[in-house]
Amino acid sequence: MQQAKVKELHTDYLNASLVTLLSLINFDTPFVSAQGVSVYDECGNEYLDFLGAYGALNLGHNHPHIMEALDKVQSLPNLLQCSINGLAAALAKNLSHLTPGNLKRSFFCNSGAEAVEGALKLARIVTGKPKFVYCNNSFHGKTFGALSVTGREKYQAPFRPLLNPSVGVPFGDLDSLQEQLRENDVAAFIVEPIQGEGGIIEPPKGYLTQAKKLCAHYDALLIADEVQTGFGRTGTFFACETENLQPDILCLAKSLGGGIMPMGAYITTDEIWRSAYGTMEKALLHTSTFGGNTTACAVALKTIELIQSQNLCQETQEKGSYLITHLNNLKKKYPLLKDVRGRGLMVGLEFQQPEKSSGKFSLRFTRNVVNKLAQEYMGSLVAGELFNKHRIITAYTLNNPNVIRIEPPLIVTYEQLDRFLNALESVLSSHTGFLSMVGSGTKSILAKMRN
Ligand code: PLP
Repeated sequence: MQQAKVKELHTDYLNASLVTLLSLINFDTPFVSAQGVSVYDECGNEYLDFLGAYGALNLGHNHPHIMEALDKVQSLPNLLQCSINGLAAALAKNLSHLTPGNLKRSFFCNSGAEAVEGALKLARIVTGKPKFVYCNNSFHGKTFGALSVTGREKYQAPFRPLLNPSVGVPFGDLDSLQEQLRENDVAAFIVEPIQGEGGIIEPPKGYLTQAKKLCAHYDALLIADEVQTGFGRTGTFFACETENLQPDILCLAKSLGGGIMPMGAYITTDEIWRSAYGTMEKALLHTSTFGGNTTACAVALKTIELIQSQNLCQETQEKGSYLITHLNNLKKKYPLLKDVRGRGLMVGLEFQQPEKSSGKFSLRFTRNVVNKLAQEYMGSLVAGELFNKHRIITAYTLNNPNVIRIEPPLIVTYEQLDRFLNALESVLSSHTGFLSMVGSGTKSILAKMRN
């Protein structure tokens, strides 16, 4: 299909407003092939994918060994309810060895949000308590349960009433957490070890382990959401390891599927699982048709093997510190780059918020657009420049549009990291300040708005 036709069909039959939004920064470009960190457009131009599907591409696009793993299981039944799947068994065992503490029993599903749904239901059935506590600025997915514990008003407001009671507390604030736990009515506290969509935010040291202690004291479960931070992204297999946190339930997805299969999971202790679903009567209380299917499990097993055998966690630590050191040098040079933060190859770049733009833009409409873009979409303007001028794919974080996240596949090379650093420096140096960035982005955006 020609790209114009693809766009027309998307506009007619899918999310038309999303197509409009993406096209503002040319994020509707057709790509015809992908390998590793690179994707190629119709003219054969190479683009570097430093977004990595929000952490779902830790092994890059179409990893050859993942494709081989898929080939190997081609003739096996993929979905067969009258059998128990051998690959699911192997995967569950491997996950239990890899994950922190005494996490042992897995439930397989198809996405991060579904893993979170399963974890919330597990906490509810085990504790018999009603309330969920989550962090402001968190992101756990957009299904009803997951949305109920996602700390962003913009996403929650149109869908109220949500799961009730669910209460947000500031990320990193143990006193507020304790305040919520005191009534002894909390089923679970759900937390990301590093907030991803919140703008790549690390909590204060010791926060996670102290939060676990508080939860244990008040008989609430701690759910760690490693959907984005898992599988080597932060330089350890799971980000929880940095603090030696042993969650009661751990949610996984994204890179678990090797960049190919939609796959999610939660894993919990034997004790918790038995208390929830440990009788035949309860065995079917929580299920998912495609959960633990053959191809997804084959890919997940191979993903784990590759991350281990290629020493990707160690490599990610080294590449991450190289990247962050050089980004900090850019930060010293260019005031537009306000902050560099993150761990491993989960890095956030925050840009300076401009003051309200003045009479530089003559049309009132234009000035309003500029102000709006400046306040809300600075990250996407930088991402637009990186994409359009340097063929590097990045994107802003969902809850904090002033931050772009850098999450290339962990197999990224130093040469590719340098290409990104040079491109970013070129963007930063070609704009004397944010107004020029906003102006440049706005011109092309306004041109599109008129089309
Ligand atoms: N949890 C975290 C921490 C995430 O970052 C995301 C997605 O970005 C989700 C859950 C939801 O995952 P999915 O989009 O697969 O439902």
